Amino acid sequence: VKADLAISAAKSGGKAMVVQFHDQMDTDYRLRQQLKADLKQAIADDQVTLVYQAVIDPRQDKIVGCEALARWNHPEHGQISPAVFIPIAEETGMITDLTRAVLAKATRDCSTWPDDICVAVNISARDFRASDVEAIVTDALKHSGLAAHRLEIEVTETAVIEEQQAATVALAALCARGIGVALDDFGTGYSSLSYLQSLPLTKLKIDRSFVMEITTNPQALRLLANVAQLGKDLDLKVTVEGVETEEQLNLLLSQTRIDQIQGFVYGQPLDLEAMTCLLRTRCGAKGPAMARPATAR
Ligand code: C2E
Ligand code: MG
Ligand code: MG
Ligand code: MG
Repeated sequence: VKADLAISAAKSGGKAMVVQFHDQMDTDYRLRQQLKADLKQAIADDQVTLVYQAVIDPRQDKIVGCEALARWNHPEHGQISPAVFIPIAEETGMITDLTRAVLAKATRDCSTWPDDICVAVNISARDFRASDVEAIVTDALKHSGLAAHRLEIEVTETAVIEEQQAATVALAALCARGIGVALDDFGTGYSSLSYLQSLPLTKLKIDRSFVMEITTNPQALRLLANVAQLGKDLDLKVTVEGVETEEQLNLLLSQTRIDQIQGFVYGQPLDLEAMTCLLRTRCGAKGPAMARPATAR
């Protein structure tokens, strides 16, 4: 009887789950269609805004810059994650408009910050295919008056591999002008090491997946230390993303040759006002690195 009950429960539960699954797929599909339809207007109407996450040099205990991260506050559906709307923007060809808007805002905001602070902007693979990235970047620098060396472009391995020809040419041109070029999410793609050497880069950003286990798995820590060393051997700055705890931070400092840290241990992404305030109070200040907001824990 028990077994029968279990089987019938599984059957009806299974059926319910399948129905639920279809409902969910349907909702997801319809939501995606609506987001697709709304994104163009959202970009035009400035519904896509930026938050900034600090990048820290932990040995100097100093903020060296921040990464601009796009946010979409949809009037009906609330906050939409960039993991959802960036792929939509790429598929629909709206990404270049978005990239242009992000570059314009980020360079303008950074030009109001202290001179030693840089800003990083994410560029998608589609940007290299669809448009002249060098021209778009030049335009943003011209309009904002920001010095070239204060801007950094972040590209993923996948973007560079997908658009090898166009990306290499554009990145070389940006590098030559003193603009930083960071390889984002490093270690999650599949670029060969010899290829890495030929790329015009100034920085490796090691993906957060390398950090997650370092406090419990010595092998994970050794791996991260070696990836950081690889970056140093290529004469690149090395940033680690996704550092969440004090324990991870201490291991990174004592066991690896990383240059910079970005992660919740130092703070969540902040809106412009909060970041400007943080940079102002930090400017020239000695003592504790920065106020770590309570929400960061
Ligand atoms: P990304 O460029 O690798 O950015 C880092 C992501 O990690 C951000 O997520 C950030 O909020 C998150 N993060 C930072 N520190 C931590 C941490 O300690 N723990 C954890 N769990 N996460 C942390 P976000 O803002 O959701 O962005 C996700 C991705 O969306 C970005 O990854 C980037 O690939 C893309 N993206 C965001 N803004 C733009 C944009 O303006 N243009 C393009 N093309 N892509 C963008
Ligand atoms: Mg990035
Ligand atoms: Mg990343
Ligand atoms: Mg990422």
